[in-house]
Amino acid sequence: MNEIRNLDLRTRAVERLVRKGYVRTEAVRHALLSVDRSAFTNFAPERAYEDRPLPIGFGQTVSAMHMVAIYLESLELRGGIKLLEIGTGSGYHLAVTASALDFLGAGEIHTIEINEMLYRKSKQLVEGMGFKTRIYFHLGDGFLGVAESAPFDRIYVTASVAEKPAHLYEQLSEEGILLYPRGVQGEPQILVKVRKAKTDYLEEGLMEVSFVQLRRPGERFI
Ligand code: SAH
Repeated sequence: MNEIRNLDLRTRAVERLVRKGYVRTEAVRHALLSVDRSAFTNFAPERAYEDRPLPIGFGQTVSAMHMVAIYLESLELRGGIKLLEIGTGSGYHLAVTASALDFLGAGEIHTIEINEMLYRKSKQLVEGMGFKTRIYFHLGDGFLGVAESAPFDRIYVTASVAEKPAHLYEQLSEEGILLYPRGVQGEPQILVKVRKAKTDYLEEGLMEVSFVQLRRPGERFI
């Protein structure tokens, strides 16, 4: 019964995102429909499918569903790509991305998290979901990216950064796309989309957003 309620609320939430224009491709629609947001947030479906950020512990939040949709659509996903996610958190955004990539023929995802508890929990949860896309979990500082596995065709950051994340720019492949919220927590932030061209980077500000801040190692979690 709860399963049916869950699926029903999820379907309605996704259809709302389609109507509002946040979901534009079949891959993203399929992915949002296949991932159970309440399993990642420990909230009942009634709360889990409200289109707003939800707490995941340690003062962190999982993005609202429309923000996950905006990220995925802006990343211009296709099969066979190698992607890096900064800030694994609950693993929800990661699972939706993996599901979208599976729909497109699968790919490779690296995700990095600085909080060991969140790293362990999301790794266990997502590894149990059996995606075709290969997923590598890293524990460490996402500001530095994952140099040993670079370059990446897509990189996205799920927390805001005050200054330009130089390592992430460097770890982009040619024609690669990087997406990150630029700004300070509590102040207006801009979602920036960067495309790496042959000799330079093309930057575009997409919209105003509100994210928690990416932390430096040793900085306390609230
Ligand atoms: N994408 C996540 C939510 C991200 S919230 C989800 O779907 O739930 C931001 C996440 O970034 C938090 O989990 C936080 O612990 C992590 N984080 C903060 N600073 C980081 C850093 N320097 N490197 C890697 N992860 C970091």
